[in-house]
Amino acid sequence: MAARPLVAGVLAVQGDVEEHARALERSGARVRLVKTVAALREVDALVVPGGESTTVIKLLDWFGLTEPIVERVRDGLPFWGTCMGMIVAAHDVADMEQKTLDLLDVTVRRNAFGRQVASAEVPLDIPALGAEQFPGVFIRAPWIERAGPAVEVLASYGGHGVFVRQGNVMGTAFHPELTADGRVHDYFVKMATAAQS
Ligand code: GLN
Repeated sequence: MAARPLVAGVLAVQGDVEEHARALERSGARVRLVKTVAALREVDALVVPGGESTTVIKLLDWFGLTEPIVERVRDGLPFWGTCMGMIVAAHDVADMEQKTLDLLDVTVRRNAFGRQVASAEVPLDIPALGAEQFPGVFIRAPWIERAGPAVEVLASYGGHGVFVRQGNVMGTAFHPELTADGRVHDYFVKMATAAQS
């Protein structure tokens, strides 16, 4: 048992922050919005929501958050990037010169699903969450083009990884915060709570 409730940070410089905050609360976490290095110091976990990765990479530098986030996550801070957040965390981006934080040993392809599933909800098999399929909401989503040996692929769609984990770092190409299904948030809160003790 953790000594106190988990404080989950949600990076709040751009993107669908509120939806993540509400979903994390439903999973039992307290939520702190993170815009400053001081706020980052107070959280037990960090979620980077969906949004626009090129903008957020610039804003992270602007707010002086890039190095502090990298340091804390390399030090074991549980981290989850959804969609744009997974792009930000990736080692690199296929066919693009885009700066990333290199927290997750994957190459992502931005806007990878093309027009058919540019924005769609598709059922995903995610054995780690149980037998029932998970509603995968994709919005101009990336996919995983390459995953290093330390990366566990927890779900795939169309032959590409869309939910990955490497130790304390998790990435989803889809948006669980936009559904009523709390199982990915529960999974993250459980993983982060286990890391607290
Ligand atoms: N297409 C966006 C990007 O490349 C990500 C979209 C999202 O986060 N929903 O940054």
